[in-house]
Amino acid sequence: MSTNKNPSTPDSDSDIDNQTNLAPPSPLPFGEKLREGLEVLPLRKPDWLRVKLPIGKEYSEVRKITSTHKLHTICESGNCPNMGECWGAGTATFMILGNICTRSCGFCNVATGKPKAVDLSEPERVAESVRLMKVKHCVITSVDRDDLKDGGSTIWAETITAIRRLNPQTKFETLIPDFQGKWENLQRIIDVKPDIVSHNTETVRRLTKQVRIQAKYDRSLEVLKRLKDAGLKTKSGIMLGLGETEQEIYETMDDLRAVGCDVLTLGQYLQPTPKHLPVKEFIHPEVFEKYKQVGLEKGFRFVESGPLVRSSYHAEKHIF
Ligand code: SF4
Repeated sequence: MSTNKNPSTPDSDSDIDNQTNLAPPSPLPFGEKLREGLEVLPLRKPDWLRVKLPIGKEYSEVRKITSTHKLHTICESGNCPNMGECWGAGTATFMILGNICTRSCGFCNVATGKPKAVDLSEPERVAESVRLMKVKHCVITSVDRDDLKDGGSTIWAETITAIRRLNPQTKFETLIPDFQGKWENLQRIIDVKPDIVSHNTETVRRLTKQVRIQAKYDRSLEVLKRLKDAGLKTKSGIMLGLGETEQEIYETMDDLRAVGCDVLTLGQYLQPTPKHLPVKEFIHPEVFEKYKQVGLEKGFRFVESGPLVRSSYHAEKHIF
């Protein structure tokens, strides 16, 4: 689904050290040969990507609830670097429709394979957890279920409806897949009118095939356009550091604005495992700040831009 959970940052300093102590800084991509038999190791992570361990009473309570109700959170599946901050504030992003995805995006740490059967009780369990957690703003996302005729859209709609029924005060964002361009499935989301709908392009046009092989850049734009045409608030995100140029970032911003996208998130891509796409560049926080200003000038209502920004980061601020 292109979740831009923007995968797997190690969530402790020791994890980061384990990787960085071994790796000399190098301008060359991972795997490129310096000379026969010698491979270049990953880029060294800069200090600004060091994050705190997720600890604290609220964090433990959220973890207990999600585990009791057998729920998946993208925070955990993606090793999100902001898990401590978000869970500490009593919020979490739920991942529905299981934890095995039918797609295999080159950046994503969610398992790929044959998903289990749909769990029809999931909408009620998610809604009940939102109630127990007293969440004011929740984010729902899912793995891609290209194996299902409805793409999982029925469970999506039932989950939104159940959350609303049990938690009438709760606002929520839905971070949805492209449903392979089967618009009757997208319509099920439109019909239940989430407060804001997010769909990530994840990267610039040129890198889309490499970064999310089963997706299409223009199809993602069309998803966003159809949502906007239906009167919904929309949001999208891209990861930086995959080899895109500054110009390509601006072109992507223009493409998103052309389909009326309201909110943009920009964050640093981090390689979850050596099997995933390499980080080509660590973008400096000041450059992220510059992109934020450019994005706002281009007309986005909100731009979250920073090394640790993920698509649901500060999601509560994006309801307007
Ligand atoms: S592999 Fe699946 S869960 Fe991961 S980003 Fe791609 S579609 Fe989303």
